[in-house]
Amino acid sequence: MSTSEIDPVTTLIHHPYAPPAGFLAPQPGVFKASTVFFPSVAAMRARNWKEKSGYTYGLHGTPTTFMLEERIATLEGGRHCVLLPSGLAAIANVNLALLEAGDELLIPDNAYGPNKALAEGELARWGITHQLYDALDPADLQARITPRTRLVWLEAPGSVTMEFPPLAHHAHICRQQGVITALDNTWGAGLAFNGFDLGRGARFTPGSGADIVVQALTKYPSGGGDVLMGSAVTRDEALHLKLKLTHMRLGWGIGANDAEAVLRALPSMALRYRAQDEVARALAAWLGQQPQVAQLLHPAFAGSPGHEHWRALCTEDGQGGGPGLAAGLFSVIFDARYSAAQVDAFCDALRLFKLGYSWGGPTSLVVPYDLAAMRMAWPAHIARGTLVRFSVGLEAAADLRQDLQQALGVAFG
Ligand SMILES: *Cc1c(COP(=O)(O)O)cnc(C)c1O
Repeated sequence: MSTSEIDPVTTLIHHPYAPPAGFLAPQPGVFKASTVFFPSVAAMRARNWKEKSGYTYGLHGTPTTFMLEERIATLEGGRHCVLLPSGLAAIANVNLALLEAGDELLIPDNAYGPNKALAEGELARWGITHQLYDALDPADLQARITPRTRLVWLEAPGSVTMEFPPLAHHAHICRQQGVITALDNTWGAGLAFNGFDLGRGARFTPGSGADIVVQALTKYPSGGGDVLMGSAVTRDEALHLKLKLTHMRLGWGIGANDAEAVLRALPSMALRYRAQDEVARALAAWLGQQPQVAQLLHPAFAGSPGHEHWRALCTEDGQGGGPGLAAGLFSVIFDARYSAAQVDAFCDALRLFKLGYSWGGPTSLVVPYDLAAMRMAWPAHIARGTLVRFSVGLEAAADLRQDLQQALGVAFG
């Protein structure tokens, strides 16, 4: 059939024109698909979803998602990547790929809250038990590992209380016991340290890294506060195929426009990370000196819980002499002499810091947390009072400091 013989309605769909190949530009094209065409039935039957040499169905990958997978795998220092529709979905996918009824998983007591909530909810209902371990204490982790322990989550630092754990030591213990480790690397973003090689600057040699490194791409890689996405990266192919199979069976798709948004933001990520780090440290140093503040929680500051572990892992010489990086995130404890209502009034008085969850975007954010409700007991290394977490955006530092100062004045007089 030539195009002149068929109905224009069909021609609109089956038009013979194809643009010339070889178009190259700074940003990759955006390929959107559920359906992918095969040239023949034989090709359709021969297609193997495990290989990136071709395409099967949108859910299994497109040129756009393959490209993002490869870049995130490289960023994390791994080889294989599965993309998920959110950071939390990435955590869930790891759990569902590796755990079955009768298994137990260990989660740090200061972990990202929804990770614990998933264990308390769905996983418990499906006969998978969990224990919380003290993120700062390898002996506590070691003591909780039993023959039923199948997976240990690591996170650095805790995303609200900011304790930086001895990651290399934790991973080493798990490896010795033959337990798989998954690291939530959203804070480090693949820039502050390599989740697969935690031996640097410590007593533990390479190979003492995590088995799986998860990241909420929602945060730094997206950088816009407008995308939800997660990744799960491995170096081991068999482990990757487990994650990939579960990903396919559960049907976790991501949108091509979201993948494109992350691809577009990745080239500026290291600059954004450094810029937010610098301003966050300046603001943290200033706020930590104010008379209303009982404690500053930021792993790069001496005296913050686990600071020595951050120094060992994230600075050039392991002694704090290097330019070690940190995310643009910190918490402070307002002294217990102030009421929670006064601290709420401080947060309400902020104008540039918006009330909202997440980090790594252009807008500075603030959240007051009820720490007592988040932990089984008040942590001994944290001063009594009310915790407020700040994430620093891309505004001018002087304006952010002025905002903090005026809000202190409004709330505390
Ligand atoms: C935000 C976040 C997640 C979850 O990411 P979503 O994309 O919001 O689901 C997981 N872990 C950490 C540490 C996070 O900060």
